[in-house]
Amino acid sequence: MQKISLAIHGGAGTILKEDMTAALEKAYLQALQDSLDAGYSLLEKGAGAVEVVKAATVVLEDNILFNAGRGSVFTKKGAHEMDAAIMDGKYRTAGAVAGVRNIRNPIDLAEKVMRNSNHVFLSGDGAIDFAISQGIALEPDEYFFSQFRYDQWKQMMDSNSYALDHSQQQVEQLMKDKKFGTVGAVACDQHGNIAAATSTGGMTNKKYGRIGDTPIIGAGTYANNKTCAISCTGHGEPFIRAVAAYDVSCLVEYKGLSLQEAMQEVVNNKLLALEGEGGMIGVDAAGNVAMLFNSAGMYRAARSSNGLDMLKIYGD
Ligand code: ASP
Repeated sequence: MQKISLAIHGGAGTILKEDMTAALEKAYLQALQDSLDAGYSLLEKGAGAVEVVKAATVVLEDNILFNAGRGSVFTKKGAHEMDAAIMDGKYRTAGAVAGVRNIRNPIDLAEKVMRNSNHVFLSGDGAIDFAISQGIALEPDEYFFSQFRYDQWKQMMDSNSYALDHSQQQVEQLMKDKKFGTVGAVACDQHGNIAAATSTGGMTNKKYGRIGDTPIIGAGTYANNKTCAISCTGHGEPFIRAVAAYDVSCLVEYKGLSLQEAMQEVVNNKLLALEGEGGMIGVDAAGNVAMLFNSAGMYRAARSSNGLDMLKIYGD
């Protein structure tokens, strides 16, 4: 019988137990649980993988704890510019948006791009025009505000370039504090169709319209029924250069590796060689789940019809 499965993440990075209060840890675990419940109950009712990954991602976008949708990080100019992508492994159709503002659920917009446009990737003002034409929910800037991200940004807002504007010690502290709060989901449905979704506010203090790996098909998000569905989180630039998500798929397709082996190669060898800190989650069409990261922790959870049920934050 076909195994159904769902995995989600809420970002990877320097997530250490000693930096976490009991209340915050509880809130994160509850948020992951809510997302998993929302997606998995749909899966059990027979929903398709695309619908499931979208639903699980929306729950995380709506939660202020994560750097996606509400609670997105601040750009250099103090705005919230979000990126998202979704991909259907059955048809290999995809939709992505980059640098969008005031969109309540960027993953919703990415799905509309996939389903209702002739395009794959829309950005900036044009993406907003498309969103309006699709009746997508918009929110004022205040909706996206969170004190925590604001304080993070305040600490960094004067640094144009780490190397130039900070002493090595300050640079190291900033790098050490890096937490990537991007969210994502991958699912395998009862027909063995798989899908991936990823959504992010990007990196704190980003400028010049910087876009990360999240909305780039093959870098931060990818799905192909023949191989796997992958959603990434981490320092976007190395993930783009590694074409990380697609590379996992290639290792499965051309080298015959299992999903777990392929992910191991990309996360712990290829990305590390490019100083690519972060992680990823994946499923294949048999419903197998893999979750791997080379950072201290990754907010993550997974459930499947053969008894997998896990909810974790740290590197254990
Ligand atoms: N990968 C995202 C980016 O570089 C950040 C993250 O995963 O939190 O934009």
